[in-house]
Amino acid sequence: MHLTLIKPNIGRREHSLYVDEGRMEPLPLGILAALTPPDVEVVLYDDRMEPIPYDKPTDLVAITVETFTARRAYEISAAYRDRGVKVVMGGMHAKLIPGEVQQHCDCVIIGDAEPVWAQMIADCKAGRLQPCYKATQPLCPQEGIIARRDIFEGKGYLPISLLQFSRGCSHKCEFCASSVYFGAHHFCRPVDEVLREIASQKRKLLFFVDDNIVCNRAKAKELFRALIPLKLHWVSQGSMDMLQDKELMELMVASGCLGLVIGFESISPQNIANMHKLTNTRAASDMYAREIEELRQWGLQTWAAFTVGHDEDTVESIRATCDFAIRNKFTFAAFNILMPYPNTPLYARLQAENRLLYDGCWWLHEEYRFNYCSIVPKNMTPDELTEISFDCRRRFNSVGSIIKRAMEPRTNMRTPYRFMTYLLYNPLFRKEVFKKQGLHFGLDDEAQRGT
Ligand code: SF4
Repeated sequence: MHLTLIKPNIGRREHSLYVDEGRMEPLPLGILAALTPPDVEVVLYDDRMEPIPYDKPTDLVAITVETFTARRAYEISAAYRDRGVKVVMGGMHAKLIPGEVQQHCDCVIIGDAEPVWAQMIADCKAGRLQPCYKATQPLCPQEGIIARRDIFEGKGYLPISLLQFSRGCSHKCEFCASSVYFGAHHFCRPVDEVLREIASQKRKLLFFVDDNIVCNRAKAKELFRALIPLKLHWVSQGSMDMLQDKELMELMVASGCLGLVIGFESISPQNIANMHKLTNTRAASDMYAREIEELRQWGLQTWAAFTVGHDEDTVESIRATCDFAIRNKFTFAAFNILMPYPNTPLYARLQAENRLLYDGCWWLHEEYRFNYCSIVPKNMTPDELTEISFDCRRRFNSVGSIIKRAMEPRTNMRTPYRFMTYLLYNPLFRKEVFKKQGLHFGLDDEAQRGT
């Protein structure tokens, strides 16, 4: 049996293949490859940088679907199904809105694939593939499974190995799709399994793609203690409240953490309260002053993630958020427009308030473009929100800002290695900001005709 794994792109720029130069290994597909019995031949195609050979014979195609890639994923699925090939879909979007995904494939997997993947493959082999496999939430995600990284070779991914210690998060921020997916639960792998996975690959730079690696502090400490002797560098995602635990921070730094993506979301305490971001309540009350100073003292390089378009935001307050990010010399920052992911509390609220644009289905809408506003904001027009968020990205990633932010001796200039990382990745992300802005989801018509 031949299994083809596909990572869809967001779309194409004009009539050419858009190549994502900041692409990282698609870890979920490495996990699916590892879950697949050894007698099945597995191949990966990554739509972010290579054409998909639709006519190459295969018995089954598996496509991972995120909300941003749904439109493109459905196009790829249709191209295979037209050729009589069965398609299975799963991923975040399939759990958020399974009814929609089911219309575009032969089989949908709802939830984590681990408990059902082997059965699905066996059923497919026997010619009795079911339309739906629903995974009950495993208590230990990825149990006993080490991702297969051989399928990533030669694809030009950034030289950083992705893996997971935990999945989910116990918080319930109003906009968070991950919180809905995991039912506001947090699941950890046994530390010795994580160590086995680290030993299975050669890189010394790791990205734990956890939703919130410090969600369970006791377990996170156990992991960090075990990482210390390995002398690695790693990055991950974590919530602001980690700074309240000194021992956690000491262990994190000692274990080789370079920095974390931290959801600042907003500099307005009222926005933070409205979105139920309880991890930030104290910090937001004084513009994160104490927390930013502590992050510097720990020597952590921060990727500050902001969401813009909340009800208290104005064009001026969003501009001030960008000034705040530049002034504090964050290593990276994201200014994401508040997006109503399907089935989230935010989606339900905005729908009830009649504030959803694009028929409430921006991810499939013909006219929607990447980084466009898809809601009716309270204090500005949708176009103003689109423009000011792009302006924030443009200003934060300007050459002048990159030079200014580099001059932070405790973080970005702490060591030659840190400085080099800063100088390598900032220009790369700057390029992606301009390339991705306004990208059409899926193929444009002309490109479609050429498929
Ligand atoms: S803290 Fe982060 S991961 Fe957790 S629910 Fe909030 S946004 Fe989601």
